[in-house]
Amino acid sequence: MKRFETTKRARYSSRFAKLASGQEPLALFITCSDSRVVPSLIALSDPGELFVVRNVANLVPPQVPGVESPETSVSSAVWYALEVLKIRDVVVCGHSGCGGINALRSGAPPAPLERWLAHGQRSLEAWRAKGPLDPSLSEDDQLSQASALQQLANLETHDHVRARVEAGEVKLHAWWFDIPSARLLAYSKAANRYVPILEAEEPAARPRASVISAAE
Ligand SMILES: [Zn+2]
Repeated sequence: MKRFETTKRARYSSRFAKLASGQEPLALFITCSDSRVVPSLIALSDPGELFVVRNVANLVPPQVPGVESPETSVSSAVWYALEVLKIRDVVVCGHSGCGGINALRSGAPPAPLERWLAHGQRSLEAWRAKGPLDPSLSEDDQLSQASALQQLANLETHDHVRARVEAGEVKLHAWWFDIPSARLLAYSKAANRYVPILEAEEPAARPRASVISAAE
């Protein structure tokens, strides 16, 4: 835990000095708390480039019309990212072998996880209704892929996100990190499946999306 001070601080000190006055991140990155998913590594980002939200199973609780947000941590971060920091690319990144997704699929998660994983109900329904994007995957990984995509729909249940997307000001991306192969995939609408990030149709189409092109 002291490694930063002894091995990295000198290298990064000038960058942090520049960042001290503020941040202008390139993307909002929503991913799982899993220790094997390292946003700055898989997106090849430097300090100041990614605004990150992490939680169990990378869920975005949907906004229910007329009801105050059921969970304010994620929605607050999303609002701040889009409306204050003016971030224009949002990535939801799931991953293989997700313990949270396994608990969600089991239908009987440990009691402390129950309330949180209830936000994954729409993911379960989408996976069951539409079937797997990649039938060769385990059921957990199938659900994980469907869930990352579902979170984009959940994001759009929030009025300000939907307005920005409809105005063409914000793009939503679903990514999936395959841990055994260390391969980063992006959902391709044209192919209706996750493809290697280099083959994705629009991962780097926007000027402020350099973080995404950097992943190549
Ligand atoms: Zn996970």
